[in-house]
Amino acid sequence: MSPATIILEEQGLRDGLQTIAVSIPAAQKLSWINQLIGAGLRRIQVTSFVHPRLVPQMADAEELVNALPKRDDVVFSALVLNIKGVERAIASGIRHLAISLSASNTHSLKNANISLEAARAAFKEMVALALQHQVTIRGGIQCAFGCRYEGAISEALVYDLVQHHLDCGVQELALADSTGMGNPLQVKRMVAQVLAKAGATPLALHLHNTENKGYANLCAAAEVGVRQFDTAFGGLGGCPFIKGATGNIATEDTSHMLMQMGYSTGVNISKVAAVSREMEVLLGKPLPGLLYKLADREDIRMT
Ligand code: ZN
Repeated sequence: MSPATIILEEQGLRDGLQTIAVSIPAAQKLSWINQLIGAGLRRIQVTSFVHPRLVPQMADAEELVNALPKRDDVVFSALVLNIKGVERAIASGIRHLAISLSASNTHSLKNANISLEAARAAFKEMVALALQHQVTIRGGIQCAFGCRYEGAISEALVYDLVQHHLDCGVQELALADSTGMGNPLQVKRMVAQVLAKAGATPLALHLHNTENKGYANLCAAAEVGVRQFDTAFGGLGGCPFIKGATGNIATEDTSHMLMQMGYSTGVNISKVAAVSREMEVLLGKPLPGLLYKLADREDIRMT
């Protein structure tokens, strides 16, 4: 029997770079994108269409999308936060967008300057516009497992937002543990509910390792049937609008563990690790991921 496949969506270029102060040229980003494709990744979030003043690192979004390799077998996605972002994304020619809202009203006000109620309406409008242009949508819910400002988030609210996203016509769903506050039992319970509601609509999980539970949460979600996760090379990442936020679960570490558990990800860990090492050199400090430091060492047995 062939092993179950788990799809990893590489987020290092977006979630990873958005908080990095060093300005990274589009040519460097493209080189990493090509290396990541070469490493077997088939879903890559490449940028976000946000105001360049808010996130200067993403000011080259159009230039980058325009220069992407023409690959039918790779899904390139971009994050958008408002209708202006959707308009720019459509004009750029990108075919897949991540659109999300936060289950925490306080986080929504701080991150997007909009109340949750207003965000629901804006989400609907953004999705409708994208769908009119045959752009596919992953509808996300940030802070689904807890908020640094509000604490626990009502599970009923999360399920209600899932239904809202489905009603808007999204092709995929995503739950984000933006703060890393989720725990494995909670993840398992909530994900099972969402999978039942989602039916044939795929569900992805976006996990941060802020409280060191990212990998445990991944296992819990995989156990109840989630087959798609966001990861970032070297464990980069973090929301600039969440207190103490740290990186995503690392692509290398996640892929290695999943393969040991019998899943197939199609990811070559050494090749991803090479990208992480380049980033480490560029930043002049170690990244949060652990496996990239070992992946190339012939004196260590990895499996
Ligand atoms: Zn994130």
